[in-house]
Amino acid sequence: MKQLFGTFGVRRIANQVLTPEFASKIAAAFGTTTKGTIAIGSDPRTSSEMIKHAVTAGLLSVGCDVVDYGMLPTPALQYAVRKNHDGGIMITASHNPPQYNGLKLLDKDGIGTPDELEEEIEDIYFNDKQKRVSWDNIKKAYKQEIIDEYIQEIIKRVDSEKLHEKKLKVVVDSGSGAACSTTPYLLKKLGCEVTTLNCQPDGFFPGRNPEPTEPNLQDLINVVKATGADIGIAHDGDADRTICIDEKGQFVYGDKSFALVEKYMLEKNNGGIIVTTVATSEAIAQIAKENNGEIILTKVGDLVVARKLKEVNGLFGGEENGGLIFPDFVYGRDSGLATAMILEILATKNKPLSQLIDELPTYYSQKRKIECSDNLKNEMITKILDDTKEYNVDKTDGVKIITDEGWVIIRPSGTEPIFRCFSEAKTQKKAEELADWGMELINKHLK
Ligand code: MG
Repeated sequence: MKQLFGTFGVRRIANQVLTPEFASKIAAAFGTTTKGTIAIGSDPRTSSEMIKHAVTAGLLSVGCDVVDYGMLPTPALQYAVRKNHDGGIMITASHNPPQYNGLKLLDKDGIGTPDELEEEIEDIYFNDKQKRVSWDNIKKAYKQEIIDEYIQEIIKRVDSEKLHEKKLKVVVDSGSGAACSTTPYLLKKLGCEVTTLNCQPDGFFPGRNPEPTEPNLQDLINVVKATGADIGIAHDGDADRTICIDEKGQFVYGDKSFALVEKYMLEKNNGGIIVTTVATSEAIAQIAKENNGEIILTKVGDLVVARKLKEVNGLFGGEENGGLIFPDFVYGRDSGLATAMILEILATKNKPLSQLIDELPTYYSQKRKIECSDNLKNEMITKILDDTKEYNVDKTDGVKIITDEGWVIIRPSGTEPIFRCFSEAKTQKKAEELADWGMELINKHLK
């Protein structure tokens, strides 16, 4: 059972648990198992530079070479690792508030490290088994660039000519996160008319919270409406997630943009394997069925989806939170190609985004969460399973109760001390009822 790692890496409040000493020891443990050349990068958090130096020292101490790519999106580092290196460490707390930071560890394919490796790293960490090398075996740390190449590789994968013809009006809100260095430049190179919002990197995230939720994106919504833009694009802190605002200023839920891209990818490739999680909309399965696709459902977590995509040679995958995975490019949620692909859809279909979204199968969903300390989570799941014995339950991740009218999933977050409760149904009322029921099942055992 892992004590430090969550769904993707370690995330803690900087300089409380996540001190330079902690980061250095974890990096040395990772370097002990991985060896070779390790690529590192970070988002612009105030603590990122401090942690990066500690990570570099830890990796050098166990004989690794270190390549520092500076501030960049997680997927850009994943791209670099897959192409050139033995592993990677991204210093980021993704969508978490500014006081947090974290380490996302990557294997040689640029996929988040698997559970077995994380357990081994924890064993090395807790038992001080880091293999420090002698003074004459300490390697070098050096800086390298990848952002221009990452952007060029994205442009190669979309219909750049068509996009130049259309000259779409795009507002991009990078939330002062890592996308500041990529999305605005990518959009310019695709011939878009670009308005930027929160596109100066800033670890205080002064413009908005790094999580791209509807309440956090009100400025973007207003600017899209005020400028008559075709689309608004927002990312989280480390720019692996992409959220869209349509031309009317309406927030597009992540499962809708996922469904939109899924449909397009299946049409374009005449079918293929789609991988997603048990918490994703039924619309994904329906679209796959209608477009010669096959669907595989996994546990929640982008690295689980990414690993499955690699294993089955899948076409496309993603999650309900706006993380889209194009496995021939990056084995992880990628904001750059997701943005470019959504723009290609607008340009090719020649319809406004709101209309394209309306044409997708309609399901209503509810997303709730409630605080619950990490040490209670397993016991809670056992009790909830016991309470729902007589229902049709999927145990792939947490407890998913499937009824004739919809489903509700109750699962502990892998990164925060909370329980999540998502529901989906054919009507709003039913989705609310199912979510209420899910919350009741949690609350009963929290007291
Ligand atoms: Mg993220």
